[in-house]
Amino acid sequence: MVEEFERDIEAFTQEETREVYLVGAGLKEELELAPIYERYAHLFSLDGVKRTLDQAIDKRTRYIAEFLTLGYLENKVKSLTEQIINAMLRATVEWDGEEVPYMNLPILIANEARMEKRHGLDELRREVTATANPERGERWENLHSEAEGLGFPNYVTLCDQLRGLNLAWLSKQMQTLLDETQEVYFSHLGFFLDSMGVPEADATTADIAHLFRAPQFDTFFPQEEMISSLVNTLAGVGIDLYQQGNLELDTEPRPLKSPRAFCAPIRVPEEVKLVIKPQGGREDYESLFHEAGHAEHFVNTRADLPTAFRRMGDNSVTEGYAFLLAYLMINRRWLSRILGVEDGREYLRLALFNKLYFLRRYASKLLYEQELHTDLAGAERRYVSILGENLGVKIGPEYYLDDVDDAFYVAQYLRAWIFEVQMHRYLEERFGYLWFTSPEAGRYLVSLWQQGQEFTVDELAVDMGYDGLEIEPLLEELASF
Ligand SMILES: [Zn+2]
Repeated sequence: MVEEFERDIEAFTQEETREVYLVGAGLKEELELAPIYERYAHLFSLDGVKRTLDQAIDKRTRYIAEFLTLGYLENKVKSLTEQIINAMLRATVEWDGEEVPYMNLPILIANEARMEKRHGLDELRREVTATANPERGERWENLHSEAEGLGFPNYVTLCDQLRGLNLAWLSKQMQTLLDETQEVYFSHLGFFLDSMGVPEADATTADIAHLFRAPQFDTFFPQEEMISSLVNTLAGVGIDLYQQGNLELDTEPRPLKSPRAFCAPIRVPEEVKLVIKPQGGREDYESLFHEAGHAEHFVNTRADLPTAFRRMGDNSVTEGYAFLLAYLMINRRWLSRILGVEDGREYLRLALFNKLYFLRRYASKLLYEQELHTDLAGAERRYVSILGENLGVKIGPEYYLDDVDDAFYVAQYLRAWIFEVQMHRYLEERFGYLWFTSPEAGRYLVSLWQQGQEFTVDELAVDMGYDGLEIEPLLEELASF
């Protein structure tokens, strides 16, 4: 029974991931997920899903029940999902006498040096975002009532229980994080807004996007050295990227290729794609290393693990490995060794502020999303007040439904952020501050990656000698700059 489910889930996931890969890599024009769901409709029947929920007695069957339940929910709203995505893909705005795709607006906003123009672009983006809010609201309403139809008290409880998120504990930690980093955050925010000539009272998320674009540091992160810096980093821990036959590095420029790097684990571990369009700059490097963290995890996962442990389980694990590589970007020893950056103090100040901003943003989102999923009517107002208070910039109310990932993925990221600091501290203690140059550290990492996602980040932290997820190392890091 379990094996049968796993075999079909495996086939479904391969087809789905391949479709997403082909479109993202610019090899196919249109995303067609509905036919794939239709071919595997038997996986997502109400009776079948209820049965797997009843029969979830151990880790393996729980991971399967989680996967099928979330698939069941998505299947119920897939036409609304497609409608929203396609409307946004087609939308354009008029700017400077030209027609600009809505999807390009974040890049234009981040690159726009003049505040008034930045705010003007953001206003256009907000107007278009709002046009799909009726569909987004309907989609959330449907998801909420489907969750109840499955016998859960509500959507929050469904996600919390099935994904083992421990939302009550996590929310408490995040409230602590918000309180303890309040001062350091607001003093740096004031400094950076001042340096951009943005009055605090006028500051919006568009200004933050421009701050983090940080073209003044582009020279540290040249386009031509992007791939070699990844290859050299992996070589340091004894991994030869070019010898990994199951990992395809796709750097070919194609007009329709996604500008953002992504990893497509089509078959784990046999066929994993790392797709990028190298452009250079801090954010591009960070996203390449993030996706490379996922890719190394998947290509090293043991082939003989059951599907439930290779493809399902705690996604905070894979996000933790992705953060481990991405946050080499804030490691001054790595900056000096691999990129030859000797005086990176100013850059590091901004990069750490960037991390702090994202932590506070996601902490706020965690608190907000629990309210959204229990009171849709009051959500818009709460979105603006919770995020606005904690981030100190104006928040566009139009984003209140768009700025939400399904099934509390926000919590998976937050758990991964906590775990990553514990993991890199452990690596430093065991293999030294230059762990990223130690093949022995590499062998240890491979031994973690081999386990797929059978163990949760809480369990992995215990293996490293912690009591479980502990927020103190993260708080120390965020308060230290
Ligand atoms: Zn990721």
